[in-house]
Amino acid sequence: MLKKTAIENISQLAAVLMEKGTLLAPVKEVSCHNFAEISDPQKVDLKFYNTLMSPKSAFFPHREDFVKYKVGKPLSEAEHTILNLKPAFLFGVRPCDVKSFEIMDIHFNAAGIIDPYWRARREATTIFGYAYDINQPVDSADFYNTLGIYAADPEGSDIFMVKKDKELLLKSITPKGEKLLAELSALEKASSGDEKYYEDYIKKGKDYKTRFTCVDSEVIAKKIESIFDNTDFWTKMSAACLSCGICTFSCPNCYCFDICDDTLFGKGTRSRVWDACMFTDFTLEASGHNPRTQVYQRLRQKVSHKYSYHVRKYGVISCVGCGRCTRQCPVNIDIYSIIEAALKA
Ligand code: SF4
Ligand code: SF4
Repeated sequence: MLKKTAIENISQLAAVLMEKGTLLAPVKEVSCHNFAEISDPQKVDLKFYNTLMSPKSAFFPHREDFVKYKVGKPLSEAEHTILNLKPAFLFGVRPCDVKSFEIMDIHFNAAGIIDPYWRARREATTIFGYAYDINQPVDSADFYNTLGIYAADPEGSDIFMVKKDKELLLKSITPKGEKLLAELSALEKASSGDEKYYEDYIKKGKDYKTRFTCVDSEVIAKKIESIFDNTDFWTKMSAACLSCGICTFSCPNCYCFDICDDTLFGKGTRSRVWDACMFTDFTLEASGHNPRTQVYQRLRQKVSHKYSYHVRKYGVISCVGCGRCTRQCPVNIDIYSIIEAALKA
């Protein structure tokens, strides 16, 4: 099913979705766009390239409280957080970010222990993917083509959206999306011309080129492993790194976290908070020993995890080429260039 709306009427669509549940969509901040829970439908703003932070926080919030407890009281009296989720709509997600959810599902919703918080949010959420504007230049940091992802790739979305001049075309991809789209009577029926435009746009999306290097996951995984002890290589790659961690916090596929107990006046909260392998104390052990005191060891870990260990363990690279880590890095460290250099090392 294909429907459409004028982009200037997007707030009407937002208002309808807000009546049905929680709407998370891009909003303009001082100098960027980010996903936020919408309380005013006028705030939804689709005039963005991509958000500064990835949409992973829709399923994996920066801080998640699990248990509230009282010091000295038995665990049976602790209050566990129960998620009473309304249906949620994650609106305007770029194709590379949609792909990242599938990779994150491996950790939170497939392998090992299922994370009930991630799973509940994933099940409650309908994803509105949003094609990049192929009439605008590609950002030089992006390299999602290298990971087999295209600018107008509907895979993984429930509903996929394409901009057509001053209109937005919305196509159902999954049964969940089909059901929702059928209910959205505020949208207009698309014409056969719109159908053709949509199909052509998906095809043209494959010609919208980001940076590309031929990366076979098995080859790069072995290559990265083979240069593990090449300290000169990793020192050169990490020479400017400040260990600030924004490359990991903004990454849609970084999922390291810490579990913290905050206790005050006998009352405590156990929470999960984001952590990052680029932080100096990430591997600090209780004994005081830290196996990764050097910046090069931490950058090596980040790159090796994504492009080698993750491939070895799960068969897929843990990066979607969204370019955020490069755009956000204060000293211009570029993971794509590191991968290119590693292939030649
Ligand atoms: S490593 Fe960088 S390019 Fe790859 S998914 Fe993370 S932020 Fe995007
Ligand atoms: S964003 Fe750049 S400087 Fe900061 S930790 Fe990552 S690589 Fe280092």
